[in-house]
Amino acid sequence: MSAVGAFSLSEMSSPVEIVDQMVNQAVRLNASDILIEPQEKQAVVRLRVDGVLQTFGEMPLGSYDQVMSRIKVLGNMDVAESRKPQESKIRFSSDGHPYVLRAAIVSTNFGQMAALRVLDSPKFTEFTQLGMSEAVIDKIKRNISGRYGLFLVCGPTGAGKTTTVHTCLKHLNNGEVNIMTIEDPVEYIMDGLNQIEVGEDVGLDFVSGLRTVLRMNPDVVFVGEIRDAATARIAIQAALTGHLVISTLHSRNSVGALFRLLDLGVDRYILNYALRAIVSQRLMRKICSHCKEIYQPTESERMFYRREKGDLPGQLTAGRGCDLCAHNKFQGMAGIYEMLEMDEVLRKMVLSEADEAGFKAELDSREFEDLNSAGLRLVDDGTTSLHEYIRTLYDAG
Ligand SMILES: [Zn+2]
Repeated sequence: MSAVGAFSLSEMSSPVEIVDQMVNQAVRLNASDILIEPQEKQAVVRLRVDGVLQTFGEMPLGSYDQVMSRIKVLGNMDVAESRKPQESKIRFSSDGHPYVLRAAIVSTNFGQMAALRVLDSPKFTEFTQLGMSEAVIDKIKRNISGRYGLFLVCGPTGAGKTTTVHTCLKHLNNGEVNIMTIEDPVEYIMDGLNQIEVGEDVGLDFVSGLRTVLRMNPDVVFVGEIRDAATARIAIQAALTGHLVISTLHSRNSVGALFRLLDLGVDRYILNYALRAIVSQRLMRKICSHCKEIYQPTESERMFYRREKGDLPGQLTAGRGCDLCAHNKFQGMAGIYEMLEMDEVLRKMVLSEADEAGFKAELDSREFEDLNSAGLRLVDDGTTSLHEYIRTLYDAG
């Protein structure tokens, strides 16, 4: 029926089992969403894997009603409510790792439909496990050891930003500093941190959360995400007044993040004082080691590669698909990083209103490894395919 190993959900008796199976399978397949959709005669469960929806299974409407109740119980929602939309967060663990699902339930013509989004879950706790080079690790450690300033981690959804931030927090968590976090939601509970959850359901937003936190004399503050001008303004203020502020931003690359802050109305002079460094990152799928093979690139692959790197590729590598990777051709993920540290030259460029092209030209003249170079390095050494490189760097936000 599909590539995700679908089976008949009605064969399983309890709704607890059905929900567990569904969620565990979604995590195993690295799915971003689970949809439970009622139809006229049955309900269908679909998983979104690598951006594409695949049917996971079907169940009779009787089981579906119980599954919806189970989801509401897990999310502390009103079980009796079946008309109004409801939203909540569900925590669970799979293979010993904690996960958070953002659950939404709405009424459709055949009944209630549930959409569960699997949020990024931090799985690593040491920099060396993130696939970073020693140079990047050293720069990160140097920049988060300061007692003031803004340290940003950027990338689109699913780029592994949360994992990098939690690795930084773990590194700083030595018992001698007050680390406070403002997260929507708290995804990973760490001993020694004071973590505050914000969000519509809690009735607290990032700005009021941050104001509250600053009264508690923190040394380090993690603000989950800078999404708007108000959060940007107060995060930068905090960074200027004796706090190390770590946050994330949705942007394509490091220079893009810098300009995003300016677009949000942050003053150039203030940004110059506050900003320490920006890490930009992506996760690329690694070719399955069991069915990896070398092939001669096609003409269009050769041309694309030359445009990216300036010279032609030798051999390229790709997966053939095998039982061990469920014919996905990939298994596991590898991080790629670009690390922009502010220095005197870059600070002057911010003040002199240089544009993005100006920054790019300056960085090109240095030994700066950008995301594209980092990604091509993994294509060259056979860790990933050229196709995955294109998908990661050009298709996703
Ligand atoms: Zn394989």
